[in-house]
Amino acid sequence: MSGVLAPPWSVRSLSEGEAALLNEVFGSALDVSRLRIWSCPILNWTTRRAFCAGGWLWPGKSLLLYPTKAALADFAGSRTPISATATFVHECTHAAQSQAGVNLLWAKLKAGDSDDSYRYALGPDSRWEGLNIEQQAMVVEHAFLCRRRRKTPYDLDAYAAVCPYPVACAGDG
Ligand SMILES: [Zn+2]
Repeated sequence: MSGVLAPPWSVRSLSEGEAALLNEVFGSALDVSRLRIWSCPILNWTTRRAFCAGGWLWPGKSLLLYPTKAALADFAGSRTPISATATFVHECTHAAQSQAGVNLLWAKLKAGDSDDSYRYALGPDSRWEGLNIEQQAMVVEHAFLCRRRRKTPYDLDAYAAVCPYPVACAGDG
């Protein structure tokens, strides 16, 4: 991964660019001032993936844990690969879910962690509430990539029909 890494064990708040990016994606559905990003070496040997702990490790905050090798100093920087920014948007969807009152631990147990847990299909009857937390996060991640003119499973109109966040609003892309 390219981009400058945050120091191991460091906990940081958002860069100005990240805050602007998340405002663009989530609008008022995410309080970005509550987000903290922890570069966590333990994850290098366990899941090797980022995850959102919501508020249960740090009440009042929305904590994202990143393995040190993926914990960039700025996920919205000009040298940040689009894939890293998209993963960041995915994790911040879980922060928005948590801030809206979803218990992430319980919802993750219900959603599961197989490839199928993340796969989604959109149609005329699709509703946001019908998607599990991972499917919702994939929809937001893909709507973000679609807006950045990357190839995605559906077009922006399909995402706009189901996703409640500004990132999927069609028209001004
Ligand atoms: Zn996820």
